Amino acid sequence: MPQTEPDLFREQLARAAALMRKSRHVVAMTGAGMSVESGIPTFRGADGLWTRHGPPPMDGFKRFREDPAGWWQRRVNRQMDAHMIELRDALVRAEPHAGHHALAALERAGAVQHVITQNIDGLDLKTGLTNLIEIHGNRSRLRCVGCGQRTSLGDFVPTEPPEPCAACGDVIKFDTVMFGEPIPADTMAAAREQIDRATCVLAIGTSASVRPASGLLWIARSNGAAIIEINPAETKLTSICDVVVRARAGEALSELLELVAQEKSVTGHRPPGPGSDVRSGACAGTMNTNQS
Ligand code: NAD
Ligand code: ZN
Repeated sequence: MPQTEPDLFREQLARAAALMRKSRHVVAMTGAGMSVESGIPTFRGADGLWTRHGPPPMDGFKRFREDPAGWWQRRVNRQMDAHMIELRDALVRAEPHAGHHALAALERAGAVQHVITQNIDGLDLKTGLTNLIEIHGNRSRLRCVGCGQRTSLGDFVPTEPPEPCAACGDVIKFDTVMFGEPIPADTMAAAREQIDRATCVLAIGTSASVRPASGLLWIARSNGAAIIEINPAETKLTSICDVVVRARAGEALSELLELVAQEKSVTGHRPPGPGSDVRSGACAGTMNTNQS
């Protein structure tokens, strides 16, 4: 008898849960697809911001460095690209969905050890998730380009350009990493450490096309980690995945939580997973995309 879609979904989830259970250190890497169910559009894909508004220039950081005052003036006057205005308005309204809460619950249950998000929306922080690396920064923080000091804005929206950094005098930008901007060294080192420890990586809602973050997934693979993809669509990562769950993040993570929690209550412990002793490849560099 041919497998129905629900059968296939159940089977994919069961395989993902089994892999997670036998893994000693599970790291989740999330992308823009993770927050779609919170009403935040992705960049790519049929309904993506770039598909509808066209892709932005890939040298955003260079432009900022050339004229930070002009950049800030345009920002506070709302003279931004259409896709940035749409993204910002969606970010202001967004709240975590069931999938964000399930991921935090998986962390509390000891089934996920760390989350690396490419998202800048701060939604994971609203769920109580603790072990979080925001590899592309957070939209509600400012960061000094020179010394890297970060300041939280909370809900405050700057209405005038910020003063230069009190500590080093350099210019201040949003903490979010621009195209062409290096990922801050402390953040990249923390992410790389997690990837090197990972015995299993959950790649959730990412097209795996923004470097250097996406490169971490291939490093995890060559380290020997198992890779589970949760994404309704095929990506360039799919071919190296051990398990693919073709579903939206909200549904898949909620179901995965049920399965993993069930098993934990039966066994009471998680046996160690396969080792991840092989180290490979450097992953430093500026943010860019290998998607045409
Ligand atoms: P992307 O836009 O390149 O790809 C999004 C992926 O999500 C696609 O593969 C798509 O199939 C998948 N997807 C769509 N709906 C989904 C759902 N409901 N559940 C699971 N997956 C779903 O995103 P990316 O790989 O993260 O790279 C884009 C860059 O844009 C990242 O750097 C990210 O920081 C930034 N971004 C962030 C936000 C945010 O903070 N929420 C939003 C847009 C873009
Ligand atoms: Zn400074």
